[in-house]
Amino acid sequence: DNLEQSYLFSTIARKVREYSEAHPEADIIRLGIGDVTRPLVPAVIDALHAAVEDQAKQETFHGYGDEQGYGFLHEALVGYYKTHGVELATNEIFISDGAKSDLGNILDIFGTDNTVLVPDPVYPTYVDDNVTDGRKIIYGRTSQENGFLGMPDDSVKADIIYICSPNNPTGAAYTREQLKAWVDYAKKNNAVILYDAAYECFITDPALARSIFEVEGARECAIEICSFSKIAGFTGTRCGYTIVPHELEREGMNLNKLWLRRQTTKFNGVPYVVQRAAAAVFTESGMAEIQANLDYYRQNAKVIADALDECGVWYCGGKNSPYIWLRCPGGMKSWEFFDWLLENCGVVGTPGVGFGECGEGYFRLTAFGDAEKTKVAAQRIKAAIQTL
Ligand code: PLP
Repeated sequence: DNLEQSYLFSTIARKVREYSEAHPEADIIRLGIGDVTRPLVPAVIDALHAAVEDQAKQETFHGYGDEQGYGFLHEALVGYYKTHGVELATNEIFISDGAKSDLGNILDIFGTDNTVLVPDPVYPTYVDDNVTDGRKIIYGRTSQENGFLGMPDDSVKADIIYICSPNNPTGAAYTREQLKAWVDYAKKNNAVILYDAAYECFITDPALARSIFEVEGARECAIEICSFSKIAGFTGTRCGYTIVPHELEREGMNLNKLWLRRQTTKFNGVPYVVQRAAAAVFTESGMAEIQANLDYYRQNAKVIADALDECGVWYCGGKNSPYIWLRCPGGMKSWEFFDWLLENCGVVGTPGVGFGECGEGYFRLTAFGDAEKTKVAAQRIKAAIQTL
C-alpha cells in the first residue's frame, strides 16, 4: 500500500511533466493539490512577529514549554469548541506539529494486535501508518449509493475505527445522527474512534457535526485529531492538536494519561512562536480574516460544482468541504479521465482509484487553487464534457 501511494503521486507528476514537454504552450491548471494557497492572515502574522520579539528579551523569553502545549492555546481552543456546543477541559487538549504526526503517533498507545477499520476510499496516511506497524486492516466499502458515507456493520469487528468528516478525498460529511450510530457501535464493540476533523472549518450546514464530541457518548469512545493547516493555512507553519477525553478508558487504562505519558516521553512541544500564531486564529480579527480565506476557497468549490451541475455530472462534496468528488463522465475509469482531462482541458486532478478500490471511476478536484484559474478550469471542463 505504501508503494501504491507513492506510485499515485509520482505517476501524476510524471504524466504532467511528459504532457508539458510535448505541449510547451499548454496552460496547465492544477486542481489536484490538497495544500492551501492563501497566505497567513494579518492577525496571525502580527502574533508571529510579536512572539519573535518576546524571544529576543530576557523578561519574555520562552525555553522549553509544557509538552502538551501552552495554556493560552488550550484556553483559545476550549473557547472555539464552546462555539459548537462542546465543553472540553484544558488538559484534554494536546498541541502538536500537525494532524499527520498525531495520526501516526497516537497508534503508540494501541497494541499491534488491534484490528483497524478504515473507509475505502481513504486518506492514505491511515493505511500506511497501520501497514508500517503490522495491524490488520479492514476496509469499509463506500459508494455513490451511500453518498460515500459508510455506516456501521454489526458483522464487522474492529478495535480502532477511522472516521474523517468532512472526508478527504470524497468531501462527504456526516450528520450528528449518523455519527451517533458510529458512537453506539464503537461503545458496543469496545472500539476507539479516531476522528479526523481536519476539514471541520468548511462546515456551514448546521445538521453536520464539526466535532465528534457534539455526539452523546463520544467522550467514552473517541479521540479527535485536528489541524490548523486548513482552517488557517498552517500547512507550512505546522500546528495541530489531539483531544483525548478523561472518560476514555480501555483495559483498565486511561487513554488521556497514556497519551500524556507518550507525549512527555517522545515529544518536546511545538515552538512558542507557532503556538502564539495559532492562538491568534481565535481572536476576533483572526476569526474574521480566516473566514475571508475560507470563503475564497468555498467560492472556488462552488464554481467547480456549478460547472458540473450544468453538464449533469454526479459529485459529492463541494459544499461543507474543499473537495469535489465526481463520477468520471462517459463511463471513464479514473486514470482514463485523468489523461482525458489533461489533454482536453489542461487540468490536473487526482484519480479516485488512487485512494482505494472503491474510488475507481471517480475523481477528486480541490478548491484550494487560485480563483481566476479555477474559473478558467471550470469553464474548460464544462465545455469539454458537453462534447462527450
Ligand atoms: N488529515 C487529513 C484528512 C488531511 O487531508 C490532511 C492533510 O491534507 C491531514 C490530516 C494532515 O494535516 P496536517 O497538515 O496538520 O499534518
